[in-house]
Amino acid sequence: MDYSAKDLMEMDDTYGAHNYKPLDVVLNKGEGVWVWDVEGNKYMDMLSSYSALNHGHRNPVIIKKMKEQLDKLTLTSRAFRNDQLPLFLKKVCEVTGMEMALPMNTGAEGVETALKATRKWGHKVKGIPENKAEIIACSNNFHGRTITIISLSTEEQYRDGFGPMTPGFPIVPYGDAKAIENAINENTAGVLVEPIQGEGGIVVPPEGYLKKVKEICKKNNVLLIFDEIQCGLGRTGKMFAWEWENAKPDGIILGKALGGGVYPVSIFASSKKVLGVFNPGDHGSTFGGNPIAAAVGLAALDYLIEEDLPGKALKLGNYFMDKLRSLENPVIKEVRGKGLLIGLELNEKARPYAEKLKEKGLLCKETHGVVIRFAPPLVITKDELDWAFEQVKDVFES
Ligand SMILES: *Cc1c(COP(=O)(O)O)cnc(C)c1O
Repeated sequence: MDYSAKDLMEMDDTYGAHNYKPLDVVLNKGEGVWVWDVEGNKYMDMLSSYSALNHGHRNPVIIKKMKEQLDKLTLTSRAFRNDQLPLFLKKVCEVTGMEMALPMNTGAEGVETALKATRKWGHKVKGIPENKAEIIACSNNFHGRTITIISLSTEEQYRDGFGPMTPGFPIVPYGDAKAIENAINENTAGVLVEPIQGEGGIVVPPEGYLKKVKEICKKNNVLLIFDEIQCGLGRTGKMFAWEWENAKPDGIILGKALGGGVYPVSIFASSKKVLGVFNPGDHGSTFGGNPIAAAVGLAALDYLIEEDLPGKALKLGNYFMDKLRSLENPVIKEVRGKGLLIGLELNEKARPYAEKLKEKGLLCKETHGVVIRFAPPLVITKDELDWAFEQVKDVFES
């Protein structure tokens, strides 16, 4: 090893912009739910790269598929067709119950695609006057970091200094269906919602919310778009979080775990009516839908289904939440979540607890200042989860 952890962190901070404040651990190996740092210390990954690692680190099935594809064809751009993309698109439609899909790379691009499709549908199909279409978003949301997407954020820091913002995004309180109904007018094209807010602090809306929002959208000829980039693909104990209320949306955005933990893959899936608004040249991405992305995305979906990762997340998530609720420490305000998307809200700053958990070999990250997120890879075993709980118990009951 040529560089020490200290050298690498210094290099990182010298040459890299400081748009993150990572825990001081320099990783160089991962397998399943485990990662190792450059000094050989072993940790459990309880963050899963914000749910991009539902399949675990270097999932052997995904790695094999990717290697096979690397040896055949990597990139064509959409100027030409490739033999992997059609299989991936068909699978996405089967799994989501949608009719068509448009592949991108990052989550933010998937969201941008959904916003563009929704606006264009509003104008071309619904008949909203040009440049008037509105898309309602919810307070405390996280949909990504582009200038348009931060325009619908209510997080001051995400917007600070980046103006002017993109207009056309009225914001209503999250979890309040009536507020959506009141905000809808003749120019409303769509409503964008996270079925569970991840970055917002693992916020689960009141029961019945998703279903009510769906009814309201339907009644008003407004598209309901769910951002399931973080809560989708098994994380909450169902393939999609909307299944908790049987509230199938008009369009769904997927990302993160769609790339199997190895590659950026995102997609917007919807109906022919909505995605039919795109004509050649309207929208695109050089890398979107490339053969590696398609092969990996297909393998990621197949694996989730074959290994029943949603079912595992449900069982183990309930098990872990029960254990967390048994912790006795007045600093703990609430344990909440669904499946293996779990938030432990404290009455004080969570960062020092994340640091202590790191010392115990458990890597978590605080979100929204006071919430510790527990979101391990869905391939975690019960024994591994028991070990994790022992570390949490040590930190909170010592
Ligand atoms: C992570 C995330 C995004 C953005 O994805 P990127 O790949 O980071 O651009 C959008 N929406 C939700 C709900 C997310 O969790």
